[in-house]
Amino acid sequence: MRIRRLKLSGFKSFVEPSELRIEPGLTGIVGPNGCGKSNLLEAIRWAMGESSAKSMRGGGMEDVIFAGTTSRPARDFAEVAILVDRAPTGDGQDGEIEIVRRIERGAGSAYRLNGRDVRAKDVALLFADAATGAHSPALVSQGRIAAVIAAKPTERRQMLEEAAGIAGLHVRRKDAEQK
Ligand code: ATP
Ligand code: MG
Repeated sequence: MRIRRLKLSGFKSFVEPSELRIEPGLTGIVGPNGCGKSNLLEAIRWAMGESSAKSMRGGGMEDVIFAGTTSRPARDFAEVAILVDRAPTGDGQDGEIEIVRRIERGAGSAYRLNGRDVRAKDVALLFADAATGAHSPALVSQGRIAAVIAAKPTERRQMLEEAAGIAGLHVRRKDAEQK
């Protein structure tokens, strides 16, 4: 699975609609302090279903919506779209998928997969199967390196399971047990 494009609107400091193409190979984001580098990575994590406002550096999830400045009014929604390429898995479900997450003030988050309304859980499963997603060990945010090193064995096991691509199976098993 590869992220090919990122579109943001009203998300944190990205108030105007912005689109970034992510080319194959290594991508670096450079810029002065506070220009929005971490916000971009948070946007990817958020679109993948991040549910912790704290890990998005906010008090509540609506804090991801552009809060306004002295010269610009605040927005009432934030939207992030990521276009991912699914590697052939043999299940016939490869190809491009656009995942869109939108949050409106007072109305919470909604997700779309290729234009179809889906649940947060569907997005989580999509990424869990691809051994990536909002809590993927592949995404280490600023200041979290020490936490990874100091993780408890159970937490480390979870990271390894995700890296090994079996986290999706656990989600499905839990789901089946509840039914
Ligand atoms: P550093 O180099 O220090 O790590 P950075 O490039 O990673 O900086 P970010 O942390 O991504 O910068 O961006 C911080 C900026 O985003 C701050 O200026 C902050 O005011 C702005 N910001 C965050 N949330 C919002 C919001 N909801 N509305 C408006 N601006 C926001
Ligand atoms: Mg940063």
